[in-house]
Amino acid sequence: MIKHIEIARLLKGDNEQLMGTSIEVKGWVRTKRGNKHVAFIALNDGSTINNLQVVADVERFDDELLKRITTGACLHVTGKLVASQGSGQSVEVQAEQIEIYGEASPEDYPLQKKGHTPEFLRSIAHMRPRTNTYGAILRLRHHMAFAIHKYYNDHGFFYLHTPLITSSDAEGAGDMFHVTTLDLNHLPMTEEGKVDYEQDFFGKHTNLTVSGQLEGELGALSLGKIYTFGPTFRAENSNTPRHLAEFWMIEPEMAFYELEDNMDLAEDFLKYLIKYAIDNCEDDLKFMNDMWDKELLDRLHFVLEHPFIRLPYTEAIDILQKSGQKFEFPVYWGVDLQSEHERYLVEKHFKCPVILIDYPAEIKAFYMKQNDDGKTVRAMDVLFPKIGEIIGGSQREENYDKLMKAITDRNIHMKDMWWYLDTRRWGTAPHSGFGLGFERLMLFITGMSNIRDVIPFPRTPKNAEF
Ligand code: ATP
Ligand code: MN
Repeated sequence: MIKHIEIARLLKGDNEQLMGTSIEVKGWVRTKRGNKHVAFIALNDGSTINNLQVVADVERFDDELLKRITTGACLHVTGKLVASQGSGQSVEVQAEQIEIYGEASPEDYPLQKKGHTPEFLRSIAHMRPRTNTYGAILRLRHHMAFAIHKYYNDHGFFYLHTPLITSSDAEGAGDMFHVTTLDLNHLPMTEEGKVDYEQDFFGKHTNLTVSGQLEGELGALSLGKIYTFGPTFRAENSNTPRHLAEFWMIEPEMAFYELEDNMDLAEDFLKYLIKYAIDNCEDDLKFMNDMWDKELLDRLHFVLEHPFIRLPYTEAIDILQKSGQKFEFPVYWGVDLQSEHERYLVEKHFKCPVILIDYPAEIKAFYMKQNDDGKTVRAMDVLFPKIGEIIGGSQREENYDKLMKAITDRNIHMKDMWWYLDTRRWGTAPHSGFGLGFERLMLFITGMSNIRDVIPFPRTPKNAEF
């Protein structure tokens, strides 16, 4: 039986019946201060950003024990819950017994002091969840993950589990991690001098998935509305603050949705998540706002209160070209927009989230629905302040012949993709979907500026230590 009480519950305020009784709390020491007579220990158990004040009468406790209570140590405290004398907290605990579970020697405990940089904390990613900042980020991450499932469940979507190991490399094999059990030092070769994947575990060449979309479409075209929420992998060697090699993606896919419906869903979904954070994570958001990004709360409210601008790519190019702004990368019709372009539109021109649609076919994937102009496709990218692209999606091409043509135009190997084409062969239907990068969302929600800081164990080029 767990007897101790979580600090979040104690500080919530509805604990009338506990006042004056003896309770047990457990957690890690954030700070200890005091004088000859009394020690004040700020205890945090991870359940909330807020600490519980433990007051220890120096006379009651062994000197040696009190000395071993230092920042980072883990304690089990039994004591009386009383209204706090000091300001800053509603209740405190008057310690009757203190047991030290684990010490943290001030000489080498790396989080002895406050105010470390994110860079330093990344180098001790195994310990950083113990800091206020990462505690807040990880709690926010949990609440967002929960809200995502809640949103889709409440809206009649089914959670579809798509595979992480795939044999399709249609989205660009260059960016994929290979999955193999072959001995890399003694590779079996075919007569043509190529690696003989028939001898590999799956009897064919396989990769880690870059997206669950193609399988998601199978789900949508049978269950109506599905979503996936799982890890995806991209071996892109781009060391940016917005890319991870392993990240989580949410991919709803809906039968009978056209591009307009897809945009409506994306906007409603993002606003729901932002509102959920504001309504349920007040303390952690306020902490992030005060410590890391003074405009965070304003930005969240702003996005919540304004309709997203919806704009064709062609018009965006026009705006960028007429902007008079100096960009590092040139702007012309057909260019794949860079983050600097996206952020100019959102932060400078419209000062509002933007959904760009109808991109040139050449810069988008083969499965996007072709417009009648023969040049553009029904793509949509949602662009956010501070982030750039947060969502990428489209209406899908449901016509078998047009899809086949897009595939042959791009020289894509479709021998492993017959199953995808079969959805268009039998009972095809208009359908749409998109992918939200979970860590891009977390950047927006937390106000952090490096994606390595919103996932517990970041995987980036040359980094998979912890
Ligand atoms: P970008 O142009 O920003 O590299 P993308 O167009 O390659 O992204 P999509 O294939 O459209 O990305 O993936 C859908 C979403 O997944 C993106 O809108 C983004 O939120 C997220 N995403 C894509 N690549 C990464 C990555 N390497 N790390 C984290 N999130 C990513
Ligand atoms: Mn994209």
